[in-house]
Amino acid sequence: MPHYDYDLFVIGGGSGGVRAARVSAALGKRVAVAEEYRYGGTCVIRGCVPKKLFVYASQFPEHFADAAGYGWTVPESKFDWSRLVANKDREIARLSGLYQSGVESSGGEAFHSRATLVDAHTVRIEAEGRHVTAEHILIATGGRPNPHAALPGHEHCIFSNEAFDLPDLPRSIVIAGGGYIAVEFANIFHGLGVDTTLVYRGMEILQRFDMDLRHRLHEEMAAKGIRIRCHTILEEIEKRQDGRLAAVITGGDVLITDQILLAIGRIPNTEELGLAAAGVATGVRGEILVDAYSRTNIDNIWAIGDVTDRVQLTPVAIHEAMCFVETAFKDNPTQPDHDCIATAVFSQPEIGTVGLSEDEAGKRFNNVEIYSASFRPMRHTLSGRQERMLTKLVVDGDSRRVVGAHVLGPDAGEMAQLLGISLKAGLTKDDFDRTMAVHPTAAEELVTMYKPTYLVKDGVRVA
Ligand code: NDP
Repeated sequence: MPHYDYDLFVIGGGSGGVRAARVSAALGKRVAVAEEYRYGGTCVIRGCVPKKLFVYASQFPEHFADAAGYGWTVPESKFDWSRLVANKDREIARLSGLYQSGVESSGGEAFHSRATLVDAHTVRIEAEGRHVTAEHILIATGGRPNPHAALPGHEHCIFSNEAFDLPDLPRSIVIAGGGYIAVEFANIFHGLGVDTTLVYRGMEILQRFDMDLRHRLHEEMAAKGIRIRCHTILEEIEKRQDGRLAAVITGGDVLITDQILLAIGRIPNTEELGLAAAGVATGVRGEILVDAYSRTNIDNIWAIGDVTDRVQLTPVAIHEAMCFVETAFKDNPTQPDHDCIATAVFSQPEIGTVGLSEDEAGKRFNNVEIYSASFRPMRHTLSGRQERMLTKLVVDGDSRRVVGAHVLGPDAGEMAQLLGISLKAGLTKDDFDRTMAVHPTAAEELVTMYKPTYLVKDGVRVA
């Protein structure tokens, strides 16, 4: 039996890598992690966490406006971008420290270095210029924004990474894309007072979500003042003499703006990792190919998270890490379960969703029942805000199973977490019906929609 320096060497100290390292080390395994940037990865350093903090920051103007209906007089408000960035940085530094200390306090070793594969069992720690060996190697290097190299002038644009640390808040911004990042940042910047335009190539933002949510969110964002241009792409960007940017879009219109943010998807971080040296196979997008257990074509090398380009979500990477530990170290082969993943878009209003959209359900089931309610949430009665909430259940009429649940409105993400349990458990509409409502809440609508709003038979909506 060959002797290795470590039982496990993890490349990448993000959510997935750190979880795998921490749990394996706690089992008594000899574990090391290498992270070239900051512990915490995309989610903590320049993704979910700072994004949510910025969402909170951007919501205050609406809270101030809504306060009047509740009897409050709010003095003139003023926003300080650099204070927000500095406070965010402090919180991120705290969390990053916790990620690293979590590895170390479990008995693992944390390197601040890029690490590359030399062969199937050897890793080079670049910062120290030395090689170490490991029985198992786990690649969890995540992804990065698609640079959109085909766009002339793309070098003048920023990505979500830079958006968190801009020296100044721009007066105007154009955002390209219609996915999570584009939509979330459009709302953040608009909420902070930035003149915001979203440019999306498709017919409606947030492809893959339920169409009612997509339309309604589009309407609400437009009503707030965000310009959304669908069926439109950026064709060319030019930097003007005054430092501003000119973006030529479909049809020849030119948008003059301070910043352009590209949010057109993320690509796996697999370059110069030594994958070829170790014989690890990659796919067309550069993603590491893995089997159902997250094992690559090389028996002792595994990969989890965004680098595998399965489902690019933090909780998925963490789940894959836990399954990896079961499989590699607990003699309990466990496949990550990617079915029925609840998710939230932190737009304003927020989206919380799990399961099938109406369109997807219509393709899979012959008899679909749709239950939906659109109403003004109680908090907006006194505030006077016109924003409406949407709740929608998609039910397979034959089995009675609820196969999709969709919410647009305040706290929709929190609701999606709990709806996720119900749908994962395969609960039926009858289970929802006999669940007592929690009153007065917005979520009670989810258990009080007794009659179908309409039916979808063989994919076609009927009365
Ligand atoms: P998404 O995959 O969500 O969206 C990418 C968007 O860019 C789509 O609207 C796509 O259009 C568009 N697009 C792709 N290529 C081009 C192109 N060449 N020209 C113009 N438009 C293009 O990616 P994001 O970058 O928004 O986010 C990356 C990942 O991060 C997501 O997959 C998500 O899983 C994760 N994330 C999750 C969050 C959350 O959980 N709240 C928040 C932020 C990110 P089309 O629809 O036509 O394909």
